[in-house]
Amino acid sequence: MAVQLDPVLLEVLACPDTHHAPLTLGAPGDPAADALTCTECGRVFPVRDGIPVLLLDEASGGPGADATDRTGGQGGTQGPEPKATP
Ligand SMILES: [Zn+2]
Repeated sequence: MAVQLDPVLLEVLACPDTHHAPLTLGAPGDPAADALTCTECGRVFPVRDGIPVLLLDEASGGPGADATDRTGGQGGTQGPEPKATP
């Protein structure tokens, strides 16, 4: 069952990360999930008993979530993604 959150509440909720981006209901691939997804970093925050748990420690996904999984032996010596510097 999809989580029911007050649209006004959803409007004031924001990602606890530094960008404080708005959140959307549901999880990626599962719009009916009891979760909130950050529109910026893609972190998925659980909603427990109707209470959004907006803690980075409790979130799943987000930046580097699958990047850390790239240990394929394709013979590439590509280092970590270069950080864009202005
Ligand atoms: Zn975020």
